[in-house]
Amino acid sequence: MPLKNKSTKPMTGHFGDDQYTFCSNCGKIIPNALSDTICAKCKKKAGLLKKSSVSVSKPSKIIDPKVVEERTSLKNWESYFPYLSIRPLQRKIMQAISQNEKNYKHFIVQAANGVGKTVSVLASILPLSYEKDKTIIYCCRTHQQMSRVIEELKMIKQLKPVSGIALRGRKELCLHPTIQRFALDPTNAADMCRYLKKEGKCKFFVNMGKKPKQEKMKEITHNQILDSLEILDIGKSLEMCPFEISKRIVSKAKVVAASYQYVFNPSIRDTLLQSLDKEIRDIILIVDEAHNLPSTAIDISSNTLTSYTLDHAQNEAMKYNTGEIYDLLEAMSSVLNEDTKELHVDEEVQINPSEYLKKVEKRAQQKIDDRSIQALERLGEYVKEFQASQNKAPLSYTSAVAKHLKQLIENQAKKSYAFFQTKTKFKSGETNSKLISLSLDPRTITKAIFDKTYLTVSLSGTLEPFEAYMSLVGISNSKSNILDLPSPYEKENHITLVIDKISSKLDDRTPETFLKMLEVINAVVNSTPKNVGIFCASYTIMKSLLDIGLERSLSKPLFIAHQGISSLENDELVNKFKKQSKKNGAALISVLGGRSSEGSDYPGAEMQSVVVVGIPYARPSPTIKASIEYLESQFPTKGREFGYNIPALTRASQAAGRPIRSLEDYAVIVLMDYRFIRHYYKKHLPNWLKENLHLVPAESNKLEEKMKEFFRYHSV
Ligand code: SF4
Repeated sequence: MPLKNKSTKPMTGHFGDDQYTFCSNCGKIIPNALSDTICAKCKKKAGLLKKSSVSVSKPSKIIDPKVVEERTSLKNWESYFPYLSIRPLQRKIMQAISQNEKNYKHFIVQAANGVGKTVSVLASILPLSYEKDKTIIYCCRTHQQMSRVIEELKMIKQLKPVSGIALRGRKELCLHPTIQRFALDPTNAADMCRYLKKEGKCKFFVNMGKKPKQEKMKEITHNQILDSLEILDIGKSLEMCPFEISKRIVSKAKVVAASYQYVFNPSIRDTLLQSLDKEIRDIILIVDEAHNLPSTAIDISSNTLTSYTLDHAQNEAMKYNTGEIYDLLEAMSSVLNEDTKELHVDEEVQINPSEYLKKVEKRAQQKIDDRSIQALERLGEYVKEFQASQNKAPLSYTSAVAKHLKQLIENQAKKSYAFFQTKTKFKSGETNSKLISLSLDPRTITKAIFDKTYLTVSLSGTLEPFEAYMSLVGISNSKSNILDLPSPYEKENHITLVIDKISSKLDDRTPETFLKMLEVINAVVNSTPKNVGIFCASYTIMKSLLDIGLERSLSKPLFIAHQGISSLENDELVNKFKKQSKKNGAALISVLGGRSSEGSDYPGAEMQSVVVVGIPYARPSPTIKASIEYLESQFPTKGREFGYNIPALTRASQAAGRPIRSLEDYAVIVLMDYRFIRHYYKKHLPNWLKENLHLVPAESNKLEEKMKEFFRYHSV
């Protein structure tokens, strides 16, 4: 039985008295599953299967024998390309990289979905990585994208002896029931794991040291290309820790597919490099969906402390009788609550962090220095150890406070940081005050990586303008080669219709405008045979459309991704919406930049038309103002463009591209904001989106005519 179970049936294992079911669709472990248990993550029904035997899955496709004949004698990238026909755009990517790798250090490739970027980049980089003894780290955003890398490597392996691995975090790969049941996040899982290993309470770790099991593991994993679910299954079958297995075999892999965190989060990167036994200069870095990198880097280096955390930390200090620490925590909480007392919910105010710290010191009657942080850290460690010894999640709120306070002190005088206080509301109605340390400069995380790695390739369908991406992540112009590929799609496969005289500008948000928007959406839904996506610039706009009766007016069922929807609820909603494409179709409404408009793909009839309602500019706020001002100081005249305009247009382009995921897909893209026709906005759209673009009046039936003609052409 292959390890990568292509069916949706889950895989199970028995360890002592514990029984687990692994959902083979998403890999989630379901403890104590019964035959009718539903996987909480992907909603597939779990059934109990026999323990699987150990083998490694085959590639989903078998290479054409003619390719083997033709390519093996060649010396360059062509010998690594596993498909018979090399499409012109794929050839361009491979030539650009393999012929210029001596002249340039950074390659920036803008190419739409369906070009076959993954295999082209791998084929051009692999010969270089062998020649120079470098390891390739392929950074992806989703597990689906990592599996794509693994699939392509399995194809290449039929031509050349390559090895590769896709990594997942400890929390996702751990087999220990306590972590599966109680760990809240990756840090929590790491703390718990450390304790269990130290106390000899994890048999999967103990088994890692047993010779016969080690031999078996080596035999199975030797020179293999392994997806993370396959490693999970190997661990399960051998009763060894899958996370430890991946750590041990990663050093043998030529290609490592991993999330951004493995490269851009300093502590995770250090651990990975240690496992690889490599320096950062020995890495060839590929960043997939690179338009996400600036915001990911900001997220990694920013931090938020809440009054909720401070209150729970006080409870810990009280419980373990540490008076001085309690006084400090009480002062931090009281000053934060006092400062935010007059704020409305979601209102933000920029603060001077040293004034906040002075007020805290005065109230606590103690100085905040390294000694106070160490005391907080010690209490945090003690709390975690104690909880772990009680088989509880080793969670300490005091540790979270120590981490934030340390960063606050370190960054308080840096121009690249700004500090804010705000207040939010829980569902219960209680308020939660927040102290935000916001990094304003992605380069603090990315620049050193781009400077030190051997070579980098940034890939995305929406990197325009390249200057913004390169400036924000710190890529030097002189060392870069930009490849902006034309649209790979047949012109007839998509049409972009910009609706005239409607916009999401504040002044234009009148009842008349929303009625016009409603009419346009109805026209799109009526003219589309199956599913339609409606992505709004903000929740306010979405609510206004719903308030004037969008749902009642539509001829198809409407699926609504409300504000605050959880990731699980959203997945469920999107799945139900997709299923409607097999019936009479439906509409899905959500916001631009949300999970449904960026994290999901809707090929074929799952989305035949998409309506982008307005331009998703961020709400004017002190954080946005601080970001624009900082970027202006770093890149004169460009602050607003880099920090405000481009992120909004990228979000719109990303949503517009949801229905077109391959060369076979076809869709109508409706941009409901006349500003998209203007030169400035248009030039920031991807090539494919602007090549067949028309302005359509909102009031006429021109829109319906064009759409019907489009779908008639495709004989739907
Ligand atoms: S060693 Fe592995 S299986 Fe054991 S607790 Fe840690 S991650 Fe989980």
